[in-house]
Amino acid sequence: MLDPAARIACLETELEETYRSVTELTNDLSAANERLQRLSLFDDLTGLANRTLYHDRFDLIRAVADRESLSLLVLLMDLDRFKEINDILGHEAGDLVLRTVAKRLKGRLRDSDTVARMGGDEFAFLLTFGNGAQGASGVISEIVEIVQQPIEVGTTRVDVGASVGVARYPEDGNDLTVLLGYADKAMYQAKQNGGGFHIHDTSQDGGKKRGPLFFVGDLRNAIEHGELELHYQPKVDMRTFEISGVEALVRWRHPDRGLIMPDDFIPLVERSSLIVPFTLHTVSLAINQLQQWQEAGLSPSIAVNLSPRSLHDLALAEELVELMRDWQQLSNHLMFEVTESALMIDEAKAVRSLIRLASLGVAISIDDFGTGYSSLSCLSNLPVRELKIDRSFIAKMHVHREDLAIVRSMIDLAHKLDMSVVAEGVECRDDWTKLAELGCDYAQGYYIARPLPAEEFAVWSRRWRTTAASH
Ligand code: C2E
Ligand code: CA
Ligand code: CA
Repeated sequence: MLDPAARIACLETELEETYRSVTELTNDLSAANERLQRLSLFDDLTGLANRTLYHDRFDLIRAVADRESLSLLVLLMDLDRFKEINDILGHEAGDLVLRTVAKRLKGRLRDSDTVARMGGDEFAFLLTFGNGAQGASGVISEIVEIVQQPIEVGTTRVDVGASVGVARYPEDGNDLTVLLGYADKAMYQAKQNGGGFHIHDTSQDGGKKRGPLFFVGDLRNAIEHGELELHYQPKVDMRTFEISGVEALVRWRHPDRGLIMPDDFIPLVERSSLIVPFTLHTVSLAINQLQQWQEAGLSPSIAVNLSPRSLHDLALAEELVELMRDWQQLSNHLMFEVTESALMIDEAKAVRSLIRLASLGVAISIDDFGTGYSSLSCLSNLPVRELKIDRSFIAKMHVHREDLAIVRSMIDLAHKLDMSVVAEGVECRDDWTKLAELGCDYAQGYYIARPLPAEEFAVWSRRWRTTAASH
């Protein structure tokens, strides 16, 4: 029988041992977990990321690229002659080649880049670039070159080549599967060209006409360096011939490529995080112009187009409110044009944004009206001042009686809802006469004037006023 003191000492030792083994077990378990995790996220043979980790990294890097307006390139690389090496020299030689290539790639890439082995002799990369992916071709050529360096396999020196296909986020798409598909097609093209790399060109897809290719970084530079400018197209009162306002239409004066039209770059703006700086920038340009015109004794109101995405970004609405705070006196000369179809994407959010913007005294106009199937109840609940009949109806109203009937009922509808109505795409005298007959309030289109740079608009408007006075 032990005395109580000896019993306690004994128990303490037992406890200590139990504690030690629990700690050991915990350590073992976490090491095992770590090993398991490594096994499921890394490629066993090369230690590179595997397919699962690659997909994970894409989500992560995409978020950074969005935030910082970086270009993100998705690369797929296939080794040339790998199959022959494997067949002739055996699997061990093949494994050695893969490990050597992986080691060289890891040595070359930055910590922020990702390289993964997707299986077999296929590797995938995620590379980010600021400044419109300048320097990307240099890095990709280097990747090809370091793979091409001879590899010692025992006493044999083998030469492997590489074919690399490149797709760009967000220019070519938002979804990794889509981007990998494009990169795969481009890689095939590179192989056909005898190796090296090939960048996917969306304009070759299905023969669809596409504008020139740009990187997000190019556009960010354009905003920062003041390369975007607004041109102004007048809206004219059909009864008094007075210029009631202008629509601001953005153009990009590219230092090398000349004047670029919005359809060639707005889709990219819409898909990228540039939407916020872009929208704030165009509104600021319009505000500056309003100020200048007011100082010069001109007072047309300016309508700025808001892209569908900016209508669903409540934080952007707040930023616009903030921007306008200093320009309260100009807000009744500003209008926002939002397309009918944009309203329909998320009606509740769009309504909240519009109500917030209208609270500043800025008028709202519904653009491309007739193409978006908006509900009447939605329209009547919104602080909308103007409907713009889509130009496709104006173009067809002389040909199809139904289109004429649609134009007529849109004009009546606008008036019943206490809104004014603008016909866009008025291209000839017949258009004008017909619309005047139907009671349309304002006209806009090439018949009156094309979109003009600010100085030309000033000249045009002086001339218009003198001729309008004689009508
Ligand atoms: P939209 O808002 O429907 O603008 C009217 C487009 O029709 C303009 O093309 C204008 O030049 C053209 N147009 C004007 N009159 C006539 C005519 O009589 N006949 C024909 N056939 N066309 C005429 P643009 O300037 O190329 O703009 C295209 C689109 O780009 C705009 O369509 C608008 O959706 C978008 N956009 C332009 N500027 C901006 C902007 O600052 N921000 C945003 N988010 N989008 C813009
Ligand atoms: Ca418009
Ligand atoms: Ca329009």
